[in-house]
Amino acid sequence: MDLEIDARYDAFRKEVQGFLAEHRPAGPGGGKEERVAWLTKLIEHGYWARTIPEAYGGFGAEPDLLETVIMDEEFNKVGVPRGMMAQGPSMLVPTLLAHGTEEQKQRYIAPTMRSEIMWCQGYSEPGSGSDLASLQTAAREDGDDFLINGQKIWTSSADISQMCFILVRTEPDAKKHDGISYVLLPMDTPGIEVQSLRTMSGSIGENSFNQVFFTDVRVPRSNVVGQRGEGWKIANTTLKHERSALNANAEGTWIRLARLMEKETVGGVSLMKSPVYRDRLMRLQARALSMKHHGMRMLTANLKGESPGVAGLIVKLQNCQLNFDMAALAIDVMGELGALYDHTKYERGHGYWQAHSIFSLGLIIGGGTAQIQKNIIAERGLGMPREPKPAKA
Ligand SMILES: Cc1cc2nc3c(=O)[nH]c(=O)nc-3n(C[C@H](O)[C@H](O)[C@H](O)COP(=O)(O)OP(=O)(O)OC[C@H]3O[C@@H](n4cnc5c(N)ncnc54)[C@H](O)[C@@H]3O)c2cc1C
Repeated sequence: MDLEIDARYDAFRKEVQGFLAEHRPAGPGGGKEERVAWLTKLIEHGYWARTIPEAYGGFGAEPDLLETVIMDEEFNKVGVPRGMMAQGPSMLVPTLLAHGTEEQKQRYIAPTMRSEIMWCQGYSEPGSGSDLASLQTAAREDGDDFLINGQKIWTSSADISQMCFILVRTEPDAKKHDGISYVLLPMDTPGIEVQSLRTMSGSIGENSFNQVFFTDVRVPRSNVVGQRGEGWKIANTTLKHERSALNANAEGTWIRLARLMEKETVGGVSLMKSPVYRDRLMRLQARALSMKHHGMRMLTANLKGESPGVAGLIVKLQNCQLNFDMAALAIDVMGELGALYDHTKYERGHGYWQAHSIFSLGLIIGGGTAQIQKNIIAERGLGMPREPKPAKA
């Protein structure tokens, strides 16, 4: 990897800074219309959907490691997200680019990147979480359609999503990994019932966990991504992107944490002056920077068309724990106010860190638990013996 910055990149950095100076006050906004307008503007300037082909609504640039680093650095400096972390853009779009039909790419990629379509992920079921391939939600052929019956659970944002990428069993007699298909399902199809679940943080309702029930839900067979019965392969492409998306922005979170520490005081003295707290902050900085450079290592491998191998497998395990540890320090830094939840008037930053703490704790489980990640690293990454299967009765 060559990290030398030549004049072209200096000019690019100035261009990004100029964009942010002009547009930052508009920010990403809260409502849907503002969000769509902001993402559309980012795409026009090439700061979001940068390497997605123009034919699918992207900016159409060639992948470039240093441009990516510069954009991330400049957006982090001003605390504006460079795009949107959601299941559609970070998981479904790369899956469609790799395996979708031309019609699926044309239809879904652009509105997903602009956040006009929100997606949820219908993978987990009450009896199938870590052992995802044992899923039972069935899709039976009926003319040109499938009829879906079954139940999903822990479906984040199902209550606000227009579409779901769902795993269903289309070949009940095949081996468990072979009989699965990956289907694109509109959430307003008759027969879908979404029930929100209360979580340990007390939240229920919008943008939360759900269980979803399917009764004779009709979906055209043309909505299958890849080949019928090959959904396990497609699902793993999505999971790979889900896990590597979690590398996104440890440095940005760390910068926010450092700013909080500057501001918070004990006896009138900034916590940044406390050697104990500063030591914790520096340790986290080392981890955040190592994840940033790890990200560059993976991007370099991707640009060369090489597999990042075991390097790709450690991202989720390391980064989710790092995010949780950063939130834990922020909460300590706020002292007794750190324990507040539920939007009281004493909360700092509208409860950002409290929410980040619970959210990042959840991500240690979501997308494959830390224990499952360790199994994957050991078996697929380090070539250690596979864990023994439980004896059959
Ligand atoms: C924040 C969050 C968001 C989520 N969003 C979604 C979503 O949008 N869509 C979706 O489909 N799912 C979602 N999930 C569900 C998530 O994928 C599952 O919770 C996860 O895969 C674990 O499955 P499980 O809950 O059934 O636990 P189980 O599989 O029952 O595991 C229970 C415990 O046993 C351990 N364990 C299981 N098997 C092994 C093994 N072989 N070796 C060692 N330890 C093992 C696990 O690590 C865990 O600690 C989300 C979960 C969270 C927390």
